[in-house]
Amino acid sequence: MSNGSIRQMLSRIKNPIRVVNCCFSAVLLLSLLLSWRVAVVLERAYIGEQLSGLEGVASTVDRQFQRSVDNLLFYRSTMHYALQSPASTDKVREAIRQFDARRTDPDWMIRLDQQRGLPIYGVSDGFVEHHPPLTRDFDDLDGELTATLELSYILQLADYSRDFQRRVFYVSRAGYYMSTSPLPSGNRSERIMPQILDAAWFGGNREHVNRSRGVIWTASIYPLRGITASVPLDMDMNWYGVLGMDFSLDSIHAFLLNAIHNKSDGTILLFNRHFDQIASSAFFPPQNPLFSQAQMHQLSSVVSGDQMEGYVRMGSRFVSWAKLKSYDGVLVKIHTLREGIKGEFGNISSVLLLLGVLCSVILMVSWYVMLRLVSSMIRLQGALSWRANFDTLTRLYNRGAFYDSANRQMKTCREQHLPLSVIQMDLDHFKWINDEHGHSTGDKVLAHTGATIMTALRSADVAGRVGGEEFCILLPGVNLADAGLVAERIRQRISSKELLVHAGTTIRITASFGVSCTTESGPDDFTHLQNRADKRLYYAKTHGRDQVCTGEPPPTNYGD
Ligand code: GH3
Ligand code: MG
Ligand code: MG
Repeated sequence: MSNGSIRQMLSRIKNPIRVVNCCFSAVLLLSLLLSWRVAVVLERAYIGEQLSGLEGVASTVDRQFQRSVDNLLFYRSTMHYALQSPASTDKVREAIRQFDARRTDPDWMIRLDQQRGLPIYGVSDGFVEHHPPLTRDFDDLDGELTATLELSYILQLADYSRDFQRRVFYVSRAGYYMSTSPLPSGNRSERIMPQILDAAWFGGNREHVNRSRGVIWTASIYPLRGITASVPLDMDMNWYGVLGMDFSLDSIHAFLLNAIHNKSDGTILLFNRHFDQIASSAFFPPQNPLFSQAQMHQLSSVVSGDQMEGYVRMGSRFVSWAKLKSYDGVLVKIHTLREGIKGEFGNISSVLLLLGVLCSVILMVSWYVMLRLVSSMIRLQGALSWRANFDTLTRLYNRGAFYDSANRQMKTCREQHLPLSVIQMDLDHFKWINDEHGHSTGDKVLAHTGATIMTALRSADVAGRVGGEEFCILLPGVNLADAGLVAERIRQRISSKELLVHAGTTIRITASFGVSCTTESGPDDFTHLQNRADKRLYYAKTHGRDQVCTGEPPPTNYGD
């Protein structure tokens, strides 16, 4: 960067308004950047808190489901073991005898022990024959019945008030079932069995449907509203029946509600893999659907990816989701803007926003005040510097500024080998005007004279008030003869004008002029130049006034 351009830059920076604007813009920009940074940090912290909160709920739900599923698998293992090594006690033999005796009855019930074990309900051989996949054509019917009775011992011991699952059941393809609490309403097995056969968990465990023979999750059967985890019981390539566990929506709702600490935490929903809503933490079902079709589609497409958790923004709602590991479903948490504002982050954000607005307002006000101050300072500075250089009455240069300018002009003209002429001018009988018409009229005459001089000059010429009613004019590049013509023009303009001093009173004023030029012989400093013009002015004064003298003698009179 060259010296010149640096100087130019510095001179531009020196402009106070520009400096103030630059400084405040920089502060504003910095505060905006800071606010943006704070907003980003807050947003990240909010997202992190939402995700980790939901992840915590998901892992607790997972633990609950997992414990239940572990129990279910344990029950299956127990039955496998019992099928492989069937117990042979008197009571078991008695149960088998009862089964053999009642198997043709339309509704029957057998129980190993009145005190221990659950009752087994069954349908007739005829019913089984007409309702595939029920069958009693297995060789090991007695073994399965024994295993079911043995399981009933264990199920009797479980404490269902503490478990997440509401009930455990086993349904045999041999047309009987056992459950820790009654299965569908109705007291006749022939009524209940068709409903069982229609249940998604029964059909879903057929060999060709549940090929992996693992746990499947389906809807529960009426009247229980909930979901069912079930596994098939197989042995030696034979499908014996279905072991299942029901989880009621009420217990899942109670669990989700418990996971929400306060109202501003939002709503948690449980969806199955088909994205049907299973349960919600909300007290009352919402009046309108929580998601529109498009939003459901957006959510399901986001969730169907490989990620285990994530979030989407839906309008003013922040929706986070976390997949469950034990259940083939997903937890979705809806956090509305209102809830967000009421929450911890909302409070912090509101305070920061308020502070930000306050700081911005203070900044803008101080910016405005500073600009006003600087502008008035500049105006004052301009007025002061004008007053320092100009005469307020005539609006011409004052004595000091005129002599400074005169010396500069002398130097320039000398360097450029140009002539410089000086006109010395004095109003005639000015004292009389003051005495006759008052001092203010004298001032008016002075102002009028200053304006008249300016109209007769070029932009390069310089005029100043060097005494009470004395003026001096510099004409750079103008020779003596032309300067005489300029003086004459001024003289004529002054004398030709009639001035209205009071209502009905006009006066005419005149002035005398002495002109000199650097082209004349003699010392070439401004003082001598002006002295020479002054002498000629004196000559004009003493020779009748109202005239221009450019040399001596005789004075040139260009008079009318
Ligand atoms: P002459 O034709 O010989 O120049 O006569 P004159 O009366 O003009 O000369 P003189 O120098 O005696 O008078 C100048 C007067 O100008 C004296 C003074 O009161 C008056 N004067 C000086 N400055 C001002 C001013 O600013 N305003 C007014 N109204 N009068 C001023
Ligand atoms: Mg005078
Ligand atoms: Mg005078």
